[in-house]
Amino acid sequence: MNRAPLNEPDPPDHGGPSTQDLDNADLVLASHSPVAVAWLACACGEDYPCDEVRFAQLVKEGL
Ligand SMILES: [Zn+2]
Repeated sequence: MNRAPLNEPDPPDHGGPSTQDLDNADLVLASHSPVAVAWLACACGEDYPCDEVRFAQLVKEGL
């Protein structure tokens, strides 16, 4: 990475995260917040409703 020296000197090497790392961490946390999935999963592993569920619902609607 090309780190051009700005006004602030490089932080001392104390083994902790640098200011740039902290800025990156803020960006990552802001853009990687957990999202609740908007779909249901069927017990068979497909997205719900799966083909079999849709077919079964059609059958029952036809009764
Ligand atoms: Zn299913």
